[in-house]
Amino acid sequence: MGNEIGWNFNNSYIRLPKPFYTMLDPDPVRAPKLAVLNGPLAESLGLDAKQLSADEGVGVLAGNRVPEGAVPLAQAYAGHQFGHFTMLGDGRAILLGEHISPDGKRFDIQLKGPGRTPYSRGGDGRAALGPMLREYIISEAMHALGIPTTRSLAVVETGEPVYRETELPGAILTRVAASHLRVGTFQYAAGMGEIAELRALADYAIKRHYPEVESDGNKYFSLLTKVIKRQAKLISQWQLAGFIHGVMNTDNMTISGETIDYGPCAFMDVYDPATVFSSIDREGRYAYGNQPYIGAWNLARFAETLLPLLHEDEEEALKMANEAISGFAKQFQSYWLDGMRAKLGLTDEEAEDETLISDLLNLVEKYRADYTNTFRALTFDKLEDTVFHGKEEFEKWHARWQERLGRQKDPKEVSLELMRRSNPAVIPRNHRVEEALDAAVKNGDYSVMERLLTALSDPYAHSPEHEEYCTLPEAAGRPYRTFCGT
Ligand code: AMP
Ligand code: MG
Ligand code: MG
Repeated sequence: MGNEIGWNFNNSYIRLPKPFYTMLDPDPVRAPKLAVLNGPLAESLGLDAKQLSADEGVGVLAGNRVPEGAVPLAQAYAGHQFGHFTMLGDGRAILLGEHISPDGKRFDIQLKGPGRTPYSRGGDGRAALGPMLREYIISEAMHALGIPTTRSLAVVETGEPVYRETELPGAILTRVAASHLRVGTFQYAAGMGEIAELRALADYAIKRHYPEVESDGNKYFSLLTKVIKRQAKLISQWQLAGFIHGVMNTDNMTISGETIDYGPCAFMDVYDPATVFSSIDREGRYAYGNQPYIGAWNLARFAETLLPLLHEDEEEALKMANEAISGFAKQFQSYWLDGMRAKLGLTDEEAEDETLISDLLNLVEKYRADYTNTFRALTFDKLEDTVFHGKEEFEKWHARWQERLGRQKDPKEVSLELMRRSNPAVIPRNHRVEEALDAAVKNGDYSVMERLLTALSDPYAHSPEHEEYCTLPEAAGRPYRTFCGT
């Protein structure tokens, strides 16, 4: 069963020591119905989209059938949630197994919302349709923007209600990831207090994500520096795109460097470093402007778990960990600066660039301009569309920028092309996402979401057809809020 679909499971996680997981099958659901299937992703994985949409395929995506070669399990992990250490684990996720794609890559195929597991604590192990569709939309938008992320293969409606503040339709998302190893998995391993388990996990992570460090003198130090580098790059990409993760707990930070766990995340409209969307983040811990600092804090927690592997002398180990962590800020800043230069069409470097960039961001903040559309307006020289058009301080900045562009060797067209590739037109704006979810969840009308997904799949096209997705929401009476745990 399952061979027509093209599953090609080969499971390595089950070879980790037993405490890292619990084997269990998903709980079957009453009336599974496919809501959305990601055809291009299925194809790249070597899966037959038509078969996946048929009864047998939907049965797998709903957790009603276990495909041949799958060995379903829930992973154990820990994590700092809003700064507080907690024992967690897949409370509402089951890893079906690792699928090998035609080009030889290994992917976790995970069901999100398949029923209770030993790690569910008080939860029901289920998920509501709206949030699963939301994860689908935003993760696919991130992918199209070129930001490393877990992907979404499908959402199925379960035909069963879930109970939150109100009764909601239930759903299951199939998530595809390079792996689900997290900083929290290492915290869990370190918490066991046995170096053998920790080493097994670190060796596994190296083999799976950083095989190039296998022969390094101190491969665990290499692992640490590699993860730091990938996260510095990832978080710089979030900042450049105006993405706010919303719940950067250590269990939501991957070892692979992919964005994971789309709960209360959102893209910022008006530029403001203090922007927070999550309704439970009252202190702004995970505000836009804090993300790089929280990234460093989480990575310090990661480094702590690795101390026993870094060096047998505790002090030496600490020194190494500190050295690695202090590299984060520099790397982040360098990736971010490169990205900002590209957004402004700068193809070389000048010492004053940082000031030029921060002066612009200060103006964008002061005039409460839309972040994405400001860079679009600069790209297409549509300054009359901006809120600071005609303001003297902006004109001054603009003249400085033009002078700066004039000093570089590359012709204007090269700059323009770079800006077009670096400044998206279409991002998943909150009002558009909500509109799509409303139509789907309330009316069973998926056409609004399909249209949105099409626009989001080509964010740098700058196509007049997608102009409607570039417009801002009507001035809202209260700030946008996202919720997690639904
Ligand atoms: P998150 O904030 O999404 O990272 O989730 C934190 C933890 O809560 C994870 O261990 C989840 O598996 C768990 N969790 C979230 N929702 C549920 C639910 N409905 N039932 C059981 N566990 C859940
Ligand atoms: Mg999570
Ligand atoms: Mg979550």
